[in-house]
Amino acid sequence: MSDTDTDAETDTNSDSDSRDPTSLRTPIVAVLGHVDHGKTSLLDKIRGSAVIEGEAGAITQHIGATAVPLDIVSSIAGDLVDPDDFDLPGLLFIDTPGHHSFTTLRSRGGALADIAILVVDVNDGFQPQTLEALDILRRSETPFIVAANKIDTVPGWDETEDSPINATYESQTDRVQGRLDEQLYEIIGNLSDEGFSADLYWRVQNFQRNVGVVPVSAMTGEGVPDLLAVMMGLSQRYMKEEMEIDVTGPGVGTVLEVKEEKGFGKTVDIVLYDGTIKADDKIVVGGQNDPIVTDVRALLQPRPLAEIRTESRFEKVDEVSAAAGIKVAAPELGDAMAGAPVRVVRDRDLEDVVREVEAELADIAVDTAEEGVVVKADTLGSLEAMADALEDAEVPIVRAEVGDVAPRDVSVASTADDPKQQVILGFNVDTLSEAQRRAETDDVDIFTDEVIYQLVEEYDEYVEEIEQAQQ
Ligand code: GDP
Repeated sequence: MSDTDTDAETDTNSDSDSRDPTSLRTPIVAVLGHVDHGKTSLLDKIRGSAVIEGEAGAITQHIGATAVPLDIVSSIAGDLVDPDDFDLPGLLFIDTPGHHSFTTLRSRGGALADIAILVVDVNDGFQPQTLEALDILRRSETPFIVAANKIDTVPGWDETEDSPINATYESQTDRVQGRLDEQLYEIIGNLSDEGFSADLYWRVQNFQRNVGVVPVSAMTGEGVPDLLAVMMGLSQRYMKEEMEIDVTGPGVGTVLEVKEEKGFGKTVDIVLYDGTIKADDKIVVGGQNDPIVTDVRALLQPRPLAEIRTESRFEKVDEVSAAAGIKVAAPELGDAMAGAPVRVVRDRDLEDVVREVEAELADIAVDTAEEGVVVKADTLGSLEAMADALEDAEVPIVRAEVGDVAPRDVSVASTADDPKQQVILGFNVDTLSEAQRRAETDDVDIFTDEVIYQLVEEYDEYVEEIEQAQQ
């Protein structure tokens, strides 16, 4: 520890007694939707606008997430957001779009994201991954807004200079909204058969419709101010209580990614959603086997691009508070899993913290049967999502693990009596070459895909083929 670190520590401690530890954290926002509907473009546009507006004030860099502070939301959204009306500090966008990262990012049994943006291409409408995303949002009870994207391609759409919200805009908005509403209501109708209440989407009674649809163009940026204003407004109105945290308390977060980093060894990128993590904290991280107890070696945040010359890409910081994305370097992280919990031990009994991490991991564990298929996935959350989908399809699972398809998996699958179960379903994973070889000799079929939906469909078709052959 350097002297500077110690000074910083003393400063923090000296005023912590007089300070109300309860603060409001930033709502965490995830972006979902079908491939090519514009998730990445929309995030880029939001990030780009935030950088332009934030040039004067420094924007804190995050790992895996983009923070848009309230004053910047307000500069982007103009009259639509008056900072005096808000006490939430802004919005934190998870940088990796798609439902894959969404299911990976869990927190205490729920979704890490507090709100989602479901991106739908207005020309393409609801596609398989839109439906899958809707299903995931429903399961995790995450409120969301539909961003009806690519409105610049709608014939006759007219963006006027004085204000995007004018008569033309409104009639166009209604047109797009009407089109999506039809599809949405059909889906909500189906979902409500399973006890789903449309009210969950946004618990918004006075928002005209149950689901907010904001027309946007990720290309021209039209509608982005409106989208931010709606997100901010609804968060402030409906989520304020959920955002109350003890900001000085021991940090709680979720592993976003496990990465080898030159000079630091294995590191974990985490999203912190509660409390504070400090550069000298002891932490407990969910691992492949047991919880990993280790000491933080460094907390790293990306350097602003302009400052990266010969310097490292990262800057060491003394502490960060929720909500934040940060890279943690520490020994023993080789076994850490994406999607696993991270907890700071500070001021707490180590045993208690380990037990909590174990409990969270057990909560994610998949129920297995005596007989069934082998399932592999790249993260805990995706393994769970896979297991849920198979349960719905009444497909039993004999073994479920995080990691690439390995020879051991083939051995397990090959012992099944039923040919329909001599199968490995891999979600977002690779197949090791030795496993591939062995699968060929042992007559085991390996299916891999990056869309759960499609993987289950492929398996269904395979089962049908076998059943037809047996008749
Ligand atoms: P993702 O797969 O959902 O992340 O989609 P991308 O952001 O990669 O976008 C897919 C394609 O659609 C790219 O070629 C984008 O340039 C294009 N695109 C995205 N948003 C818009 C938009 O608002 N208008 C138009 N015209 N094209 C868009």
